[in-house]
Amino acid sequence: MIEFEHVCKRFGGHVVIDDLSLRIDDGEFFVLVGPSGSGKSTLLRTVNRLVHVDAGTVRVDGEDVATRDVETLRRGIGYAIQSVGLFPHRTVAENIATVPRLLHWSGDAIRARVAELIELLRLDEPGIADRYPHTLSGGQQQRVGVARALAARPRIVLMDEPFGALDPLTRESLQGSLKAIQRETGTTILFVTHDMDEAFGLGDRVGLMLDGKLIQVGAPLAFLRHPADERVRDFVGGTR
Ligand code: ADP
Ligand code: MG
Repeated sequence: MIEFEHVCKRFGGHVVIDDLSLRIDDGEFFVLVGPSGSGKSTLLRTVNRLVHVDAGTVRVDGEDVATRDVETLRRGIGYAIQSVGLFPHRTVAENIATVPRLLHWSGDAIRARVAELIELLRLDEPGIADRYPHTLSGGQQQRVGVARALAARPRIVLMDEPFGALDPLTRESLQGSLKAIQRETGTTILFVTHDMDEAFGLGDRVGLMLDGKLIQVGAPLAFLRHPADERVRDFVGGTR
């Protein structure tokens, strides 16, 4: 579904992605974890072409993203980030409806989808659809951000530390919602975090990034039972 083949990226003289190859399967929940500055966001952003690779290939559905029409590519991929980025002058419903509108869904289809997402993401406080982002709690805003990313039923969703700024309870509740939605819909999710516990809780597989390289990829338990080397042991131990 998403394929990185010998991907390299540098900023100035600094190598940020270093000859990285990885295949993420259809329907997989894949978590990229690693310390700040290890290149996670940069790698994620090559998928929707917010970052152009210097060498190597990124494929979505077998097709090189470099040759795709960028608007079409982005409409087909949900994207949620930590700083939410909701449109402040649009209501909750209008924010969620952003991509369906661009795709010219009918008004009825959009209304039905917004109602469905409000329920799925447990945003069902009376009247919330018509409120503006600044009147919501941080957790509610984050839920709207996730709802917006899922609205047009993309087969792929990219999430960059979407729950980073939340308190532990809200975070856990959102993780539960996301995992349930992902299981039900079979959406392929590429999720970035610097938190090993979050990675272990969410990922079907986890990839640990250090200095632009994937130093271990596998099921969460493998990191505990068979760490690839000392750096993996340190990172797993250090954040738990
Ligand atoms: P992570 O998400 O793992 O914290 P990033 O991918 O954001 O890491 O960044 C990796 C490295 O690339 C960092 O050293 C960062 O400063 C650098 N970097 C990221 N984006 C840019 C950019 N647009 N211009 C210059 N350097 C960048
Ligand atoms: Mg980042």
